[in-house]
Order: sequence, then C-alpha cells, then structure tokens
Amino acid sequence: MEYTIMQTKISQLLQTVEADALIITDPFNMRYLSGFSGGEGALFLAKDRLVLITDSRYTEAAERESSFTVIEENRSHPRMQIFRECLKEAGAASIGYEDLSLRCAEFDRMRSELPEELNWIPLGDQVDRTRRIKTPEEIELLAKAEAIGDQAFLEILKILQPGMTELEAAAELEYQMRKAGAGGFSFDTIMASGKNTSMPHAVPSEKKLEQGDFVTMDFGCTWQGYCSDMTRTIVLGEADEKQREIYQTVLAAQEAALSVLRPGLTGQEVDKAARDLISDAGYGAYFGHGLGHSVGLFIHEEPRLSPTGLDVLEAGMIETVEPGIYVPGFGGVRIEDMVVLTEDGYRNLASSPKCLIEL
Ligand code: ZN
Ligand code: ZN
Repeated sequence: MEYTIMQTKISQLLQTVEADALIITDPFNMRYLSGFSGGEGALFLAKDRLVLITDSRYTEAAERESSFTVIEENRSHPRMQIFRECLKEAGAASIGYEDLSLRCAEFDRMRSELPEELNWIPLGDQVDRTRRIKTPEEIELLAKAEAIGDQAFLEILKILQPGMTELEAAAELEYQMRKAGAGGFSFDTIMASGKNTSMPHAVPSEKKLEQGDFVTMDFGCTWQGYCSDMTRTIVLGEADEKQREIYQTVLAAQEAALSVLRPGLTGQEVDKAARDLISDAGYGAYFGHGLGHSVGLFIHEEPRLSPTGLDVLEAGMIETVEPGIYVPGFGGVRIEDMVVLTEDGYRNLASSPKCLIEL
C-alpha cells in the first residue's frame, strides 16, 4: 500500500484511540501497516515518526519492503532502549498497545522498562478494523490466492483415488498449490474422508480413501501474504441417496446465502438465509458453526457471518460462505467459496465447480 495512504490510516488510528504513539507487535498488523513480511520485531508509530524495529536476520528485507525507518535491535541496542528513544523523540505521553495479542510477560516488561508516567491505552480491535475493507490491490492478491486454490483443486481431482491415505492426499493437494505459485498455506489443510467428514475440522489421518467415501477438502494458500480459503466435498465413486440429499441441501443453503449477500446486511441476516434452509430440510442440528468469516493477511478475520454477527457488511469486505451438514457416524459436507462484497452484491473469487462430483 502507498506510504501516504498508510500514513493517513495511522494518523486516523492515533486520533481514534487518542494515543500519541502506538507499539505494534502482531505480525499481521505489522505487515499491513509497514509492508514488512518478516513478522519479527515491532513498530513504533507516532504522527511524524514511523519506525520498524527488527533484528539482523531481517533488516535487509525490511528496508526493501518498507518505507518506514528501519532500526536494528541487538544486544547493544535492545528494543526497550529503542522504544525509549522513540518515545522521547516523539514527545509521547500515551501509548496504544495491542491488548488482544500481546503476551502478558511482554506487556509487563514494557511497563517496567519504559517511563513510569506513560499512559497505556489498549487498542482492542482498532487496528483490525482498519484492515476490514480491502483496497483494490488487496482484492486482486486475494483473488490470485483463491485462483491458485482453484487450479490445485482441478489437479487433485485427477490424483485422488481409493487406497490413498488422507495424509497422502493432503500432501498432494499442498504440492499442487505450491506448484501453482503458493507462497505458503493459510492453515493446515483439511483432508477428511468417509465418516471422518462429520468432523468440520478433521485432521488428515492414515485412513485410506475408500470407494463411496465423501472426501472433504478445506484448503488455502497465500499469495504475497494474502490468504485463500476454499472447501469442496466430492464422492469417490457413485453417491448414495443420502449423500446426494445432504450435498444438495448444503449447496442450496450456500446459494440461498449468496442470493441475499450484499452490503447493508448484517452477518446474522446472511447466516440466517443458509441456516433456515438447512433447518427446514431437517438438518438444523447438524450445522453447528457460523456461515463464514472475513479473510485477509490472516485466515479468520472479522466481521463474521454467524448467528451473532451484528456488524453491517460493506463493499470491499471479504467473506467466506461455507455452510455444512455434519452427521456423526455418517459423514458431512461443506462447500466454501470466498467472495468480495461489491456496491450491489458480491463477486465470487472462487470458480471451482460446485455440482456434486462423483470421481
Ligand atoms: Zn476453509
Ligand atoms: Zn473458512
């Protein structure tokens, strides 16, 4: 993001939280605000002083990636001393800190080693809020990440076969994402088969894929730090009647949510569209999680589409739409796309087929 845009965002943040300076240590917030992808170090942000503190492993990368002043921390110039110098230069009497992510020990250390009279202001979710509405550039990075997922999905369909373990299948899927350009993975790939698919966040196991199994793949990769997220469920061989019914219900629920999705609605209202459909079909008890979440540099961002989601959706926000039905002892289905809200609706960033695939 351009330096001047970010400077404006930082000034607004300082005003909102009424602090003279901010100390940022969350790796995703660091990356968002400074452009530095290394994740190790800290930012000191004041009105006219934007400082990125990191160690010798990262200083060269930091200087390339960020337009902030890079200061190297080391034994003779430790971080707390740098903070003291920065506070003095900025004439800061109050400091915003990341109470939601900072470790207690780290906070105690800052309070004991930095000037006693400093007024500490918890930032809450204020920095996260600045990340909610994505710029056109960020949206293109997210779209590219999702497109890599689409490409990997088409490849994995040629590879999956009975006899392969879930672990092997997960490795193949991750390999395909890497081959298509993924920088990393948004989260641990979920590859579940048969009865294991009734666990929404199943961990890939030694279980072999069998003829007639549901296979649920929930996977995501990163492109320039931005995450993708997608789920597809297929059947190995021919689906039976119950599998077909569950699959079509989940698909109809996703379509119901997508048909109402637009700015101005709350997450709760969109969630309800999918949830009502699943309940009316008699599977209400088997859809325990929320309908979706936002995505950015981090895989689970706010606002969420859920029964408790009161935030109003706005254009430029990313959401996943991922209804599911999970029947213990039988199996489950989830279908997940990642979309961006536009002025009058949404654009689906995923293009993988959603009809029931019988491999
Ligand atoms: Zn997912
Ligand atoms: Zn998701």
